[in-house]
Amino acid sequence: MLDGGSGEARCSASGCGATAAHALHWRNPRIHSADRVKTWAACDEHRETLAAWLRSRGFPVTATAFGETVERIA
Ligand SMILES: [Zn+2]
Repeated sequence: MLDGGSGEARCSASGCGATAAHALHWRNPRIHSADRVKTWAACDEHRETLAAWLRSRGFPVTATAFGETVERIA
């Protein structure tokens, strides 16, 4: 495990300091083009919570393991 060095990512959920195991890639279609990708880090507990929050706003979301990247979001 990482020991708190710069490579360790924390969950993006408000008030959560858990180590992120997942990444949520998303964009806002009203202001971002298809090749613009925003990424949130998420722990096991918040992956679905954060994805649901994004989807509820009509934002396309792609979930991956943390550290993976996506080129674009359909
Ligand atoms: Zn979390």
